[in-house]
Amino acid sequence: MFKTVLIANRGEIACRVIRTAKRLGLRTVAVYSQADAKALHVTLANEAHEIGPAATAQSYLAGDKIIAAAKAARADCIHPGYGFLSENAAFAQSVADAGIAFIGPPPKAMLAMGLKDRAKALMEKAGVPVVPGYHGDKQEPKFLKEKAYEIGYPVLIKAVAGGGGKGMRRVDKHADFDTALEGAQREAQSAFGDARVLIEKYITAPRHIEIQIFADTHGNAIHLNERDCSLQRRHQKVIEEAPAPGMSAALRTEMGNAAVAAAKACGYVGAGTIEFIADGAGGLKTGGFWFMEMNTRLQVEHPVTEAITGLDLVEWQFQIAAGEKLPLKQDQVTLTGHAVEARLYAEDPERGFLPSTGKLIALKFPEGDGLRVDTGVTSGDTVTPFYDPMIAKLIAHGKTREQALSVLAHALDHTIVAGPRSNAGFLAALCRAPQFRAGEFDTGFIDGHLAELGAVPQGLDKSAAALGARELLTHERARIAAAAERDATGSSHISPWDADDGFQLSGPRRQIVPIVADGEKVTAQVMQERSRTVVTIDGIAAAGDAVAVVTDDAVYVLRHGRQTKIALRGLSLDEGGDGSSGGMVRAPMHGKVLSVLVEEGATVTRGQRLAVIEAMKMEHTLVSPLDGTVLEIAVARDDQVSEGAKMILIVAKE
Ligand code: ADP
Ligand code: ADP
Ligand code: MG
Repeated sequence: MFKTVLIANRGEIACRVIRTAKRLGLRTVAVYSQADAKALHVTLANEAHEIGPAATAQSYLAGDKIIAAAKAARADCIHPGYGFLSENAAFAQSVADAGIAFIGPPPKAMLAMGLKDRAKALMEKAGVPVVPGYHGDKQEPKFLKEKAYEIGYPVLIKAVAGGGGKGMRRVDKHADFDTALEGAQREAQSAFGDARVLIEKYITAPRHIEIQIFADTHGNAIHLNERDCSLQRRHQKVIEEAPAPGMSAALRTEMGNAAVAAAKACGYVGAGTIEFIADGAGGLKTGGFWFMEMNTRLQVEHPVTEAITGLDLVEWQFQIAAGEKLPLKQDQVTLTGHAVEARLYAEDPERGFLPSTGKLIALKFPEGDGLRVDTGVTSGDTVTPFYDPMIAKLIAHGKTREQALSVLAHALDHTIVAGPRSNAGFLAALCRAPQFRAGEFDTGFIDGHLAELGAVPQGLDKSAAALGARELLTHERARIAAAAERDATGSSHISPWDADDGFQLSGPRRQIVPIVADGEKVTAQVMQERSRTVVTIDGIAAAGDAVAVVTDDAVYVLRHGRQTKIALRGLSLDEGGDGSSGGMVRAPMHGKVLSVLVEEGATVTRGQRLAVIEAMKMEHTLVSPLDGTVLEIAVARDDQVSEGAKMILIVAKE
């Protein structure tokens, strides 16, 4: 067995590989870009080496730097994870040339399977059924168009070098072919530096069913059952499960045998996946599946296979790379229960699934029987635009499909992601979608049900916003009370946030608080009845079924997997003149407070001078952005303030 492994990856997969490597007694070495200096995978590893700037071309894709780090760390093997260099035959070869073991297939097998056209030709020769179509060398647009016509519409144009669903176009009519071809070629050229395409019959009611295979260096190859990855968006997997709903033992054997034949045909070693497309119309049936491509690496969704087989696939990868024999024979592979994985992303389903970057203010996963969470980030980490915005994978394993889906939906409901938006609510809705539950779905399911799944703009959740406003007030009160206590002069901090303050009149007190909820200007109504604070927005009361994450600047409310962000309406000096109904006056620059010209509780008019600060030997006067009342003064004479610091809070006249 190996002594030291370098993991040429980041995020959850790096963490996952490190976990098994440590269990096997290996020393673990991480590599990281400057953006990842404090990342979880760096913390988990025994040793870590910086390999360059954030941009992947200069770090995680820089094979020479990674090999140099492996040499420096005296690593005897490199695990590439998935993505990045995992399917790069030249890298695998360089690793071998450096005398280091590559935890993956031989470069020759990668090359044989790396391009979809070549792979299909090889599979045809090996007797594995392939999707009907054209995968030859001729690339003249006119010729390809004729081929598409012969195949019969709808067809799918695919980049031969494709991956991650890029460079793919479905064409339904002959008239649309030229534009689609151009689009596919352009995308393929920019993503893979290779514009060549192939054309396939588009299988209607397609189910994506793949087989996990393993082969050793002694000529043995087996499969570890199938995974169904039909829930996709833009040809990318969203939810994966095993076994596939509707799979029969006979079909499993047939697909398994085809997958093993495919692996043998390319001289495969290690973990790999044969992806098939199956015709789901009228249910899965023997003979109704075709080879699409082989992924010559560990797959993102391998944990569902681990759940139903009870195996550790990364452990097997190490053993096989070390020259050991496959630990099991085909008939020793078991299949227990049902497992489902959901990919939790920092993205906004309501805005076309746009990646949502930023600091993870809070990140918390539930724990429980039958639940596994693989993540590469923790609370306080930042989701950057440099890398894949996947936050975690949640994997549920149950006795039945129903049970696994229920555990997963429940886990997603209780997952807290604050800061960036996430697809947690969308994933939970998918797990509960009646048709999906009933096993009636194909790869078009998500696109056909976007509205039911909540993936359309839904407008402000006023109930969540009201809860956020209430939490914000509670927080402000606590903060002001603490400030008053600290204040040695004991000057009275009169504040309407404070239930027992001097404003207290007989009967309930009403007040309006201007807030920003998800970028929208809203007014919260606050009713103070003795110690009870009732907050409403347009008459809608605070939600009882939500979780609030409170920070100094904002409150993040999570309700039904959706995030609503609430902040006091902040106004900088520059924004002061816009006549809005409330505002926070912040320091426009670093400086020293020369004087405060108003008192808390004072009535002020728009434009009235509030305070003077001095910066770079110049005086700057801060004025009130509106007619209102001074709610809070957060600074005192002679204080040093930093740019953007809260100074004075004004609330508009009711
Ligand atoms: P599959 O999901 O079938 O394994 P994909 O091609 O969708 O196949 O998954 C690999 C993709 O994961 C890569 O194309 C890349 O965009 C992304 N990826 C690569 N490395 C990481 C990582 N460390 N964390 C998250 N995603 C990654
Ligand atoms: P990638 O390398 O981008 O993963 P694949 O060839 O694996 O490309 O295809 C990605 C997805 O596109 C599949 O999972 C499937 O949903 C869909 N797809 C691929 N080929 C076909 C086809 N011939 N008919 C219908 N859908 C297809
Ligand atoms: Mg694929």
